[in-house]
Amino acid sequence: MQSAISFSGVKKSYGKLEALKGVEFEIQRGEFFGLLGPNGAGKSTLINITAGLVRKNAGSIAVLGHDTVTDWRQARLNLGVVPQELVFDPFFNVTDMLRIQAGYYGCGEESWPWIDHLLERLGLADKKGAMMRTLSGGMKRRVLIAQALAHKPQVVILDEPTAGVDVELRRTLWTFLRELHAGGTTVVLTTHYLEEAQDLCSRIGIINKGSLVALESTAQLIARHPYRFMTVKLSCETLPEKLQAMQTGGKNGSVELKVPAAESLGSVLETLRSNGCLIEDVQTRNPSLEDIFVELTGKAS
Ligand code: ADP
Ligand code: MG
Repeated sequence: MQSAISFSGVKKSYGKLEALKGVEFEIQRGEFFGLLGPNGAGKSTLINITAGLVRKNAGSIAVLGHDTVTDWRQARLNLGVVPQELVFDPFFNVTDMLRIQAGYYGCGEESWPWIDHLLERLGLADKKGAMMRTLSGGMKRRVLIAQALAHKPQVVILDEPTAGVDVELRRTLWTFLRELHAGGTTVVLTTHYLEEAQDLCSRIGIINKGSLVALESTAQLIARHPYRFMTVKLSCETLPEKLQAMQTGGKNGSVELKVPAAESLGSVLETLRSNGCLIEDVQTRNPSLEDIFVELTGKAS
């Protein structure tokens, strides 16, 4: 089956800085794909090149088999991109802006019910006639998402749509993106909220310093981490020496231990007991995407 987006040897430099060092991977049709990476990794550069907003130095990108340079019309018809930065024309009202946008792609009145549907699902129904400049930041972001979708593209890329937005909008967006995906749209999401990627995305690519460092299903990526975490609240001041190397953190009088899968949690508890540490409370958790991310990129998000 033809992939939704294929990146082949994509390179981009800004002066001496190599923002993308030959990125190569494919996103399959129908995927909910997460593109992750620390700040400055090159995510937006890759997305903006795909959208035709930034010029690459080498390589090629195809959207549903259409090269973004030699067959850009077809590539763009099939693609909707929500950029990281808010850019909009302040002098239009919401509905007009979306209809004009659809018009750029050759969509006429037949697209209006879809636009109404987008406004409805994005919680913009009562803002249809509002001028763009009067909208709050969160409302503008909703309109930009509707704008990227006005021509009903089969592949949608959202660059950090939930960065800095309030909890209500995040929830609205999650529901909306799940619906869009269930309807057959390929969704590509970049986000700084790793639990969001873990919940929504079935496969994840991690970019670090311009190169892809991981490309796996979310479950496989998490299973790569051969540890469990154990948080214990203890009566003793210091950990037994044998356990000190496992300590990764701690707060509110508890310590967090990163326990190798090969070591049983029972033996950790036994070591504590035999060293006279009373255990007041204990919690365990499996590794999260965040743990993997920190391991692969050396950065907390
Ligand atoms: P991300 O979206 O992953 O945070 P970006 O793609 O925005 O990363 O940036 C990748 C690198 O390219 C960063 O080091 C950034 O400073 C640099 N960069 C991005 N855009 C420009 C530009 N227009 N001019 C110069 N450097 C840029
Ligand atoms: Mg970015």
